[in-house]
Amino acid sequence: MAANDATPKAYIVEHLDPELGPWSELEYLAIARESQAAGAAFCLSSLPAGFRVPEALSAVPAFRAENRGVEELYAADKSRVCLLDPSAAKDLSPEDGDKFDAFLFGGILGDDPPRDRTSELRKKGFEGRRLGPVQMTTDTAVRVTRLVVQGKTPLHDIPYVDFPELKFNEHESTEMPFRYVKDDEGKPIMPEGMVELIRKDSDKAIDDLF
Ligand code: SAM
Repeated sequence: MAANDATPKAYIVEHLDPELGPWSELEYLAIARESQAAGAAFCLSSLPAGFRVPEALSAVPAFRAENRGVEELYAADKSRVCLLDPSAAKDLSPEDGDKFDAFLFGGILGDDPPRDRTSELRKKGFEGRRLGPVQMTTDTAVRVTRLVVQGKTPLHDIPYVDFPELKFNEHESTEMPFRYVKDDEGKPIMPEGMVELIRKDSDKAIDDLF
């Protein structure tokens, strides 16, 4: 079956980390809620047997947990799936919303410098698209994809903020090595609770030095 504009979109994050850490949990909850609001589905695939899905996530109707991997889920029609790949030769465009109905992302936390773990999905042979040259967090990558394929906004018209500095107080701040979508106040859009989590993690890192 070929995709078209009216086909509901599915955002699939293939789980590649050994466990679901608190950062990923907040990112996935943001993806689930935003997918729900946009009339799309969000699937977390390749979950190990016995994986405990956080309650807040399973409470979102658009969310689906899957033990099967994306290759098995789309065995019948791989051409419907677009892998969002920082190394792809072509950038994502609004027309890709007509070509694909499932958009696949690596379920990995961002790293600096990037370790190209998306290559684990590239090997599976899905057609790839890039979201520009700068690494995004997974929830940002899904947000940007949705704005392009559902909102029909060209990639270069989306407002971004690169490497924002989060200031916790007069003395503490941290620079995030990623690209984010900018909100109306010029601030990076981040999952609910993320700034607080980053602050706690940076306090812990400082405590660990002593
Ligand atoms: N450093 C990571 C790596 O090893 O590939 C990138 C991980 S990124 C936090 C998580 C996912 O978001 C990637 O697997 C990819 O699907 C998507 N992503 C992030 N930035 C992207 C970009 N600029 N272009 C395409 N996809 C991107």
